[in-house]
Amino acid sequence: MRTPIRLLMAGLGIGPRIVLVFVLVFGCMGSVGLLLMRNSLLPTFDSMEHSFAQEGAKRVVSLFDQEMVSVGNQNRDWAFWDDLYQHMQRPNPVFARSNLGAEAMQSSSLHAIMLVDLQGRVVGFGPRAFSGGAQAQAPDLLAPLLQRWARFPVQPGVTECGMARVAYALNAVCWTGIVQSNGKGPAVGTVVMARELDAHTLKHMAQFAGVTFTLEQLGANHTSAPLPGMLTWELPALQYLPKRELYAEFSKDAMAMQYLLRDLNDTPLSWVRIRMHRELMEQGRRVVVNVLVQLAVLAVATGLVLLMTVHWWLVRPIARLRSAVADVSATRRWDQTLAYERPDEIGALTQGINSLLAVLHEQVGVLETLSSTDALTGIANRRQFDERLAHELVRLGRHSAPLSLLLLDVDHFKLYNDHYGHPAGDAVLRQLGGLLRASCRQQDLPARLGGEEFALLLPDTAAAGAAAMADKVMKALAALAIGHERSLTAPHVTVSIGIVTWSEVLDGGAAELFAQADKALYAAKHSGRQRACVYGTPAVPKL
Ligand code: GH3
Ligand code: MG
Ligand code: MG
Repeated sequence: MRTPIRLLMAGLGIGPRIVLVFVLVFGCMGSVGLLLMRNSLLPTFDSMEHSFAQEGAKRVVSLFDQEMVSVGNQNRDWAFWDDLYQHMQRPNPVFARSNLGAEAMQSSSLHAIMLVDLQGRVVGFGPRAFSGGAQAQAPDLLAPLLQRWARFPVQPGVTECGMARVAYALNAVCWTGIVQSNGKGPAVGTVVMARELDAHTLKHMAQFAGVTFTLEQLGANHTSAPLPGMLTWELPALQYLPKRELYAEFSKDAMAMQYLLRDLNDTPLSWVRIRMHRELMEQGRRVVVNVLVQLAVLAVATGLVLLMTVHWWLVRPIARLRSAVADVSATRRWDQTLAYERPDEIGALTQGINSLLAVLHEQVGVLETLSSTDALTGIANRRQFDERLAHELVRLGRHSAPLSLLLLDVDHFKLYNDHYGHPAGDAVLRQLGGLLRASCRQQDLPARLGGEEFALLLPDTAAAGAAAMADKVMKALAALAIGHERSLTAPHVTVSIGIVTWSEVLDGGAAELFAQADKALYAAKHSGRQRACVYGTPAVPKL
């Protein structure tokens, strides 16, 4: 069964080798294109996506710092507030009511304000309910702070911040040593503020950063070590968060990063898990596939155009040329010229073939002349005579015009040769050939059949005309008077002639006509030579 491709190839007349070359060329180009894209485009997208991921993670981490900066600014304002300074020295119930009440918390978006004296005792505490419903208890908030202050004592007028988990709520906590508004005087205590990073805040942060992340609280069983095989990126120090590592892991369609959030005592608190889709890579892969599909379509279209071009410009004209050459070989008409309008190599090739044909035509002409001419006398030879006789007989079959044949034989020519020599004999034969040619009409054919035997084929000539021609030849020969001392017939060279005229009773063709002429010649010889005998009639006396 023929496949569509083979049918197409057969239709276009293009060999499978050309198609194979096209397939190989386009296959190589496609593979190189694919490799280039895989090795340059996708790695570029990959590294761009790494940077995007790193930037996104940095934004998320810096938002945690921003929360502390925001709480820290409020905390610092309070620490330099003269009313608070005085309240720490002489507790004022009005101040406590108006500034540590739930309303004040609400308006400043805080979840706890705690005042601690120089001995580490809580002297004022204003809580607001966390999103989970619980409220901060002063000891829960104080405990991690005391742990911290034991190592890093509170400095007057210096704000510090950290993260802490209070009653299961994640909080940004800041504290400052309380001083006068002019920054002078020893600290009279510490003001502490806490703001819960509730789900709403975290969602807002995620929106702001444009990155999705989750917080995974570290319990007793959790490890703070990164997963094996993760990349480690260093994040620079922010205002309150020190320089820390960011761990990243890349799969085919997602990037996962994790950052360990530590509390104000540097204890691991939560994993911030950031997840980003690898959109750029997906897009990159889509682009690669699109480009490949487009390239493939382009390659197929180009291939087809090339195939058609090769077909129209090369295969078709060469096939035409080949069939024209085959035509010339089959018909053997070497005189033909092939058309060559094209100004290209095929035109030049056609011209070359035409030159060869011209040489061939000339050579064939020479050969034909040589093969149909008698070398000694220059008139037709036996071969041409036979062809012409056959041709005339065919013609007679169509138009019943008369046809006569004269057979001539030199009398006692052996004796002539013996006496005058062979070259002289040749000269006689040449003279006789010339004489016959001169006596003939255009359509008559004089021929030397061999030795000293000649023939005259006379188309459109009846018996009377043939006899007249025989007479004319014999008289012309007599007029030449070529001496023949040894002849037993006359003192000069003479010929005997057998004449036959084609009649409709003749049915044996050329052979029979020839045999009749030969009989007539025989009769002429035997009745004394130097005369013409007509087949079927008594011999006539000699001239
Ligand atoms: P006849 O009158 O009976 O025809 O006698 P003849 O001698 O002509 O006939 P025969 O057949 O005995 O001899 C023919 C001679 O023609 C013999 C040969 O020497 C001569 N001859 C044949 N071909 C050539 C030729 O090409 N050149 C020459 N010079 N002589 C030839
Ligand atoms: Mg003879
Ligand atoms: Mg003879």
